[in-house]
Amino acid sequence: MPRAKRPRPVVSRVIAPLLLFVACVPPAQQPTREPILPEDPPGPTYNSRVVALRTTLGRAAIRLEMRGEVETVKTPGCYDTGKPYGCAICPLVGESDPLDGAVLESLVTAFDRYPNGVIEATHIDKVALCKDIIYLDPKGRKVAGTIDIEERRLLISLDAFLDRDYEWASQWYTTEHIVHHELFHLFEHERMRAEFDDDPEWRLSNPLGFIYTDTAAATRPAGFVNEYATTNEIEDRASVFEMIMSAPDELCTIARDDQIVRTKVELVWRRVAALVGDEFMRARAPCVDWIERRSEPRTTGIVGGAWIRSGIGITRQQWLRPPAR
Ligand SMILES: [Zn+2]
Repeated sequence: MPRAKRPRPVVSRVIAPLLLFVACVPPAQQPTREPILPEDPPGPTYNSRVVALRTTLGRAAIRLEMRGEVETVKTPGCYDTGKPYGCAICPLVGESDPLDGAVLESLVTAFDRYPNGVIEATHIDKVALCKDIIYLDPKGRKVAGTIDIEERRLLISLDAFLDRDYEWASQWYTTEHIVHHELFHLFEHERMRAEFDDDPEWRLSNPLGFIYTDTAAATRPAGFVNEYATTNEIEDRASVFEMIMSAPDELCTIARDDQIVRTKVELVWRRVAALVGDEFMRARAPCVDWIERRSEPRTTGIVGGAWIRSGIGITRQQWLRPPAR
């Protein structure tokens, strides 16, 4: 699922329909900035950060892909037009590319946030660091991240972070946002595949009469955490999770005055908590506590750690059980 890039303030309206939301809050652990510039040959700092990322991913048996023998990776849609989600081309980042070491640090932080064993639940094999992700489709989409379910690969575009210092305050999103967003797509694809494209419980949470459209809303409407979330229910859910993980304070501010967003946060939180643990989710987004209390009475809820089914909801067992292979 391509994850659209958010704009820099100077970006023209030409790509506005694909752009995303408001300014991010800083990651809890702000990366230090140690730029790797063209005149600075790759040194131990860069190398040690690559090693740290490889080690983090290696704990979940995931391989890091950077430029080496292979220069470019492509999604199956590039070879077979019948495949869903089109063709995405990823020229891999190499050690000679001017990359701020803090970008790698932020990626380590993102993956390290999850309790042991959780990343394995995505059944992902590879993480590709791309200089850019070029989507060959009629819409000419530019995306910051995407997943290749067939190849079990998560692709991250570093285009917005190459050749410049890594400053969360001037950037509308961080590499950490991209990781959480794409991992959520993978969690869902693994644990609720039947409802991946059509989630009745989620649909009911939307404003009455609302219909998703390919073109994102120009401004964030009530009931959504950002503009991009209005494009389809898959991106809507992933955007909520991304905010829980990367920008909980901003999310909690939105939820304070928005009952629909509170319902959506509760739904995503309830599902993911089955996988990663209730404590982990509460620690990440403390406002979950009051969101739970302020939510309207629902026919689906959590009682004694077990979910009560409304007849349309995703079950706790479903999120706990890996799919048959
Ligand atoms: Zn997405």
